[in-house]
Amino acid sequence: MPKEMIGVCKYCGQTRAVMAQTQEEADEMASLDCSCPGGEAKRRREELKDRLSELIGELAPEFGWDPVTPEVFKAVAAIADSVADGKIGSATFSIDGTSLKIKRNAKGIAIERSKTIRQGGSIEK
Ligand SMILES: [Zn+2]
Repeated sequence: MPKEMIGVCKYCGQTRAVMAQTQEEADEMASLDCSCPGGEAKRRREELKDRLSELIGELAPEFGWDPVTPEVFKAVAAIADSVADGKIGSATFSIDGTSLKIKRNAKGIAIERSKTIRQGGSIEK
C-alpha cells in the first residue's frame, strides 16, 4: 500500500510529500514533479519515452505499428534522450520500411513515425 512519504528531487534536493511505497519511488516522483531544470528535463525524457513506446515499443501494436526489438528500442531511446537534452538536433531512423523522426523545434520535441504505401503497375497497350 502506498503511504505518505517525503520524496527528494534527485536534481536539486527539494523535498515534497508524495504517496509512494519505497523511498526510491518517492524520490522518483518528487523529481518528476519538481519545477527545477533537472526535473523538467526528466519530464521531457519520460514523455518522449511514452511516445516512443506508442510508436515503436510495447504499445505500438495498439496504434497499428510493428514494435522493434528491446535492443533497438533501447538504442533509439538513448538517441531520443540526447535530442531531449539538446545534444542532437534531430534524428531519423528507417525501421521496417517506416520512418521515425525525432526533432527539436521551437515548441519542444516533435516525434513522428510514418509509412508510405505505394501501389500500382503499368498496363501495356
Ligand atoms: Zn528539483
